[in-house]
Amino acid sequence: MEAEYRTGCVEETWAVARQFAAELEPGDIVALEGDLGAGKTTFVQGLAAALGSPCAVTSPTFCLAAEHRTDRMLLVHLDLYRLHGPDDVLDLGWEDYLARGAALCVEWPDRAGDLIPQDAWHVGLAQGDAEDARVISFRKGIPA
Ligand code: ADP
Ligand code: MG
Repeated sequence: MEAEYRTGCVEETWAVARQFAAELEPGDIVALEGDLGAGKTTFVQGLAAALGSPCAVTSPTFCLAAEHRTDRMLLVHLDLYRLHGPDDVLDLGWEDYLARGAALCVEWPDRAGDLIPQDAWHVGLAQGDAEDARVISFRKGIPA
């Protein structure tokens, strides 16, 4: 992946997600960072579709966790917005998902604290300079 992409519409964000899908491996944790409406859920929609998920991804905000059995791996989409800390996240079945080898896409990863490992992917989404413009950044691990 390049460090940064600029998209001008949802379909371009899905195309970036498709490139990322080629790099994603079972067991990976993807911390999705960005404000409400930045496009985190939209990005996961594209990721799940690229991995061959038969179902569209809706926002898991009201169900907290959505499981997608894709052709290549179990993709679990977590929205931690309403949670308060790592104990709540463990109650969602975090360790069970990892034991099953799932790739975890996590919105509001700050709620998970130390559960986000050092080698996690960090995908940042931010508003660009037009209404439908977004800047998407990729980083694996914590920089030195
Ligand atoms: P989040 O999960 O970060 O709160 P969502 O993905 O739910 O954000 O919402 C992003 C909104 O922005 C959607 O309504 C989507 O249609 C819109 N949007 C407009 N342009 C883009 C773009 N280039 N990439 C992603 N989403 C976009
Ligand atoms: Mg969302």
